[in-house]
Amino acid sequence: MNRFYRIFKIYVFSSILYSLCFLCKLAYANSIDINVSESRFVFSYDNSVKKDVFLLENPSRLVIDFQNVNKVIKQNIDYKYVKDIRASKNNNTSRLVFDINIVPNNFTVTKVYNLFDDKKHLIVDLNNSVIKSKNILIVIDPGHGGQDPGAVRGNIKEKVLNLRAAKILKNKLEKNGFEVVMTRNKDIYISLRNRVRIARRYEADLFISLHADATKNKNTNGTSIYSLSDKASDKLAKDLAESENKSDLIGGIDLENVEKDVSDILIDLSRRETKNSSIEFAELFVLTFEKNDIKLLRRPHRQAGFAVLKALDIPSVLIEMGFISNNSDLKKLSNNEYLKKLMHQVSLVVEKYFIDNPQ
Ligand SMILES: [Zn+2]
Repeated sequence: MNRFYRIFKIYVFSSILYSLCFLCKLAYANSIDINVSESRFVFSYDNSVKKDVFLLENPSRLVIDFQNVNKVIKQNIDYKYVKDIRASKNNNTSRLVFDINIVPNNFTVTKVYNLFDDKKHLIVDLNNSVIKSKNILIVIDPGHGGQDPGAVRGNIKEKVLNLRAAKILKNKLEKNGFEVVMTRNKDIYISLRNRVRIARRYEADLFISLHADATKNKNTNGTSIYSLSDKASDKLAKDLAESENKSDLIGGIDLENVEKDVSDILIDLSRRETKNSSIEFAELFVLTFEKNDIKLLRRPHRQAGFAVLKALDIPSVLIEMGFISNNSDLKKLSNNEYLKKLMHQVSLVVEKYFIDNPQ
């Protein structure tokens, strides 16, 4: 009997606790913060809220229905794509309607739990070819050129493969609404420093350098991607960076010094942010290629001190499409259909990257 009474007491006590918690939750779940930046809509709240997101046409609207929410607070609203915001309530459903001045093709919803502010964030991104192409400029850099052939095997020169691939990629990206500038569109020599300068002059949003190098080990094969690092992550990355950086010696020694007058701290900050974006692009690249069954080099994302990646304020990556020192890679890279397939994958990565990072 005594035991039964004890269990009963625990039961009553936990029921009270549970009800109290439930009440707390209800009390706190009723406020939602709204932030809008360009085509990204962020809704932040403390507790789980039931919601439904959809688009309506004629006129174009983004609609979100929240359950059991009493208060919505407009924080920072960017009215670039938003014409008006309306809120209404019907029973337990609070409806938020954003009148928008674009017709989105679709939208993506991401849920994030932020440990720092202990809030849940619902992120809605509107996707539309106009939004995506808006001022996004990509510089494609076909490695080597002119008196610098890059890696050579028989009558195959790396500089030719790089340019061929770059032209395919340019076409694909332009079809998707991106603006593209090439550091070279013919067989000419351009110093590494000038390649970086072109990217900065056009204020590129992304810099992609294309290569197909050779290495001593004839078995090394597969596609890989490099982002900038002060220290090369391994021997292969270091060797490649060294041979790429030698390119400037071929064209004459560049005596100009790195901009010493710019504050080191600013460089460091900008570099850190750019580095993160470059790493994010490289990781997305690896994921996409793995998903689409393209042979990647072992540990396909590596870091090295490539001079051409040192644009500081522009996310930059160097893609080694494969190794012409490897028979199987050489055969693939000499095949135009394979280059098209490869560049199609790169264009998918670029698209996904800019959907995740609206400019
Ligand atoms: Zn190269």
